[in-house]
Amino acid sequence: MLSIIGATDETYKWALFDRRPLQRWSVGRVTLLGDACHPMLPFMGQGGAQAIEDGATLKGCLLKLSNDIPAALQLYEKLRLPRASRLQGMSATNKTRFHMLDGPAQRERDAEMARGATDWSPTAIAWLFAHDAELIEVQSMSALPPKADINDWPHRRLADGNYDGLKSRRNRDVGWFHRCTSMW
Ligand SMILES: Cc1cc2nc3c(=O)[nH]c(=O)nc-3n(C[C@H](O)[C@H](O)[C@H](O)COP(=O)(O)OP(=O)(O)OC[C@H]3O[C@@H](n4cnc5c(N)ncnc54)[C@H](O)[C@@H]3O)c2cc1C
Repeated sequence: MLSIIGATDETYKWALFDRRPLQRWSVGRVTLLGDACHPMLPFMGQGGAQAIEDGATLKGCLLKLSNDIPAALQLYEKLRLPRASRLQGMSATNKTRFHMLDGPAQRERDAEMARGATDWSPTAIAWLFAHDAELIEVQSMSALPPKADINDWPHRRLADGNYDGLKSRRNRDVGWFHRCTSMW
């Protein structure tokens, strides 16, 4: 690893940003996709993947409801927003989980990983990789939480918890970001 880093001519520090899940993506004939509506930290490796899924679902919704664009965009939002929000929350949670200092919490995490009971075990993560974003099943909407419930999702609460922790560090992080940018 050191020799790979040593072989680079120049290295940069780059800040990673995300945000809390949005309540809506679509208004009338306008909608958002990708990082514009669900930026997430890279700790689930899903930011780009979710943008691609958005595109596949958006195409399907527009084909299905081609006579009513606002309805197509509402359907797109209803199918996509809960899944992307969940991944925003999980990615934010992994920010802490992947960067623990040695100690009891780290040992508990390692024991959980050794049991294969973590989010990234093949069984637990099947909901993520078995998903078919092109399948526009109106019936499947009943399996999704209604929009009003998104705030109550455990993953949303976890993400909010992370953000509350970040608030106290915000000034330090912003200061670090300005120091980095002022060097360029
Ligand atoms: C370190 C890191 C690791 C990552 N690892 C993964 C991974 O393993 N797997 C994964 O799926 N994702 C990963 N991602 C996330 C992924 O890169 C992003 O989620 C993805 O690129 C978002 O795509 P997007 O098209 O929504 O936005 P972007 O890729 O940001 O595209 C937006 C484009 O719009 C352009 N633009 C902005 N403003 C204007 C304007 N006014 N006019 C015209 N053009 C404009 C920008 O220049 C840019 O080209 C990672 C991200 C980071 C930072």
